[in-house]
Amino acid sequence: MAIYVYGHTNPDSDSIVGAISLAYLKNQLGEEAVATRQGKLNPESTWILEKFNIDVPDLMLEYAGKDVWLVDHSDLAQSPQDVKEANILGIVDHHKLGDITTPTPLECWIRPVGCSCTIVKEMFDFYKVDIPKDIAGAMLCAILSDTVIFKSPTCTKVDTKACRELVEIAGVDDVRGLGMEMFTVKSAVDGASPRELTTRDFKDFEMGGKKIGVGQLEVVDISILDKVKSDLFADINKLKEEGGRFAVLLLLTDIMKEGSQMLIVSDDDTLVEKAFGVKPEFNEVWLDKVMSRKKQIIPNLEKLLA
Ligand code: MN
Ligand code: MN
Repeated sequence: MAIYVYGHTNPDSDSIVGAISLAYLKNQLGEEAVATRQGKLNPESTWILEKFNIDVPDLMLEYAGKDVWLVDHSDLAQSPQDVKEANILGIVDHHKLGDITTPTPLECWIRPVGCSCTIVKEMFDFYKVDIPKDIAGAMLCAILSDTVIFKSPTCTKVDTKACRELVEIAGVDDVRGLGMEMFTVKSAVDGASPRELTTRDFKDFEMGGKKIGVGQLEVVDISILDKVKSDLFADINKLKEEGGRFAVLLLLTDIMKEGSQMLIVSDDDTLVEKAFGVKPEFNEVWLDKVMSRKKQIIPNLEKLLA
């Protein structure tokens, strides 16, 4: 029976390329594995797969009765609804430990590094399997994306070392140039609806019985979002109502200024001030040096609410 590998809902490039690279490794190890995805590709992932000529993983929403490997998450809220009926063989992840449990032992590759693809790179090394040139290029892009071209506080020496090796395999001359080219694609807002933008990288978290949605848009210049900001506000208000959420926070991250403008809708007006020590004005606030949702946003909210 084939193993199905998938990343989180609302997949980002790490979830897509992580599934592709891990499925490839499994196949090389003689285990039949298929890369799948739980949702639409975002423009950045589309660009990566086109650039390196890699097939788009199959869309799959039901995994009951299947053998699965999870990539880039260990939270029930980010896995398929029927994950409890799937047979979880393993997890590759770099987030806080989630709430997924299994009735039998499983293999876990969970490390505090900047990207799941960094861990998959370590797995290739562990099993002494060569990474094909195109997959190496895609893994490199996923790491550049998750670490915001090494600027995110989540980036570690393990990530930069993996990138140095992937650069060699992929034959990339200018890694920062590649990263900037990719982030320029990621920054494109023209033609995207407000809902596409607010949910492009959106995750729900359960904290002390409250559901909080946190989205993030990473751009090379935050001023390109000025013209859509009121639409983004209107849409996060809708997301809050539709999902019965306690709060929805949207981070507009400027990767050059290295900080994030947070747009806020919350049942508790003091939530953000209490969590981050800065007082929002008109439901928004600039958070200097804040680039990572997982390392600089979620822990503060959890401390406050959980
Ligand atoms: Mn991810
Ligand atoms: Mn990731």
